[in-house]
Amino acid sequence: KLHNTILELKGNIRVFCRVRPLLPEDGAGTDMIVSYPTSTEALGRGIELMQNAQKYPFTFDKVFNHEASQQDVFMEISQLVQSALDGYKVCIFAYGQTGSGKTYTMMGRPDAIDLKGLIPRSLEQIFQTSQALKDQGWNYTMQASILEIYNETIRDLLSSNCPAGLDLTRKENGVPGRQYTIKHDANGNTHVSDLTIVDVCSVNEISSLLQQAAHCRSVGRTHMNEQSSRSHFVFTLRICGINENTEQQVQGVLNLIDLAGSERLSRSGATGERLKETQAINKSLSSLSDVIFALAKKEEHVPFRNSKLTYLLQPCLGGDSKTLMFVNVSPDPSSAGESLCSLRFAARVN
Ligand code: ADP
Ligand code: MG
Repeated sequence: KLHNTILELKGNIRVFCRVRPLLPEDGAGTDMIVSYPTSTEALGRGIELMQNAQKYPFTFDKVFNHEASQQDVFMEISQLVQSALDGYKVCIFAYGQTGSGKTYTMMGRPDAIDLKGLIPRSLEQIFQTSQALKDQGWNYTMQASILEIYNETIRDLLSSNCPAGLDLTRKENGVPGRQYTIKHDANGNTHVSDLTIVDVCSVNEISSLLQQAAHCRSVGRTHMNEQSSRSHFVFTLRICGINENTEQQVQGVLNLIDLAGSERLSRSGATGERLKETQAINKSLSSLSDVIFALAKKEEHVPFRNSKLTYLLQPCLGGDSKTLMFVNVSPDPSSAGESLCSLRFAARVN
């Protein structure tokens, strides 16, 4: 009974935790700082973090341990993805410090089919299912956009104008006159001025868009991984379905978001541009937490307008939309402090 009450209170917000394996670069012979007290299987609900001989237990909707495969993870979200075809607005976030496995979870690794992340898997499923639903009279049209938010500024990653040597610190994406103003209409649709929106009919088309976006994201950056972890990556698929037999219509949205690294200021020792950047990241991540917290508590005022990210996603976060947050955690002892922060952040919105 109590359990049901908690689920009701939380509405359509779920938090999954995923721990990556120890990596060679974590240092040989290090012990994991996490254990999974309630389960020895790849999937459970409990996790315990050890720091300075202290134990910190947490419970989430699901916990994937370091042995969980990409397929294991996808199995647990495929229904949520599916609901975008039924007309729901869905957001899936990956939260965690840089190096904790966010991009691995969302995009995966291109070098092996098994290691594909949940973005490619989700898109494959969406197109397969939409084809299968043709038998029942459903015709789907889909549109994709891909952007990043850096220093509270939107950057169109599908812009044909993604010039080499782009200066990220400039306000306007290097393309004069582009504002990327966010507006929501009465039907709950979001419009971002000047943003490239592409009609897509197949997974292959989306794959090439993702490649284009990755290229645009990396252009002009010397340390690609480092830089891309300082911005939020937002992939959006708008789905319209019309049933030719029943004339029923649905409009779903699937947002897949690889968040900027959550590492704290003290550790990065930032000054100048870097300080501003870190403050922008902290602000938008804490705004996201505030919004999800307010929604989970069903508070009257939800502070969507406090950051670009939450304002952009506003129609997809409230109402009967569905939100899933992955909190990615490194088991490396030198990350214990950051891992604990991430778990606490996620426990707050959980
Ligand atoms: P982030 O995007 O949070 O900065 P990455 O996704 O780039 O982190 O992961 C950091 C490193 O850890 C990468 O080399 C990645 O391949 C590896 N990694 C992350 N999660 C896993 C996992 N579940 N299994 C195996 N390797 C992983
Ligand atoms: Mg990353």
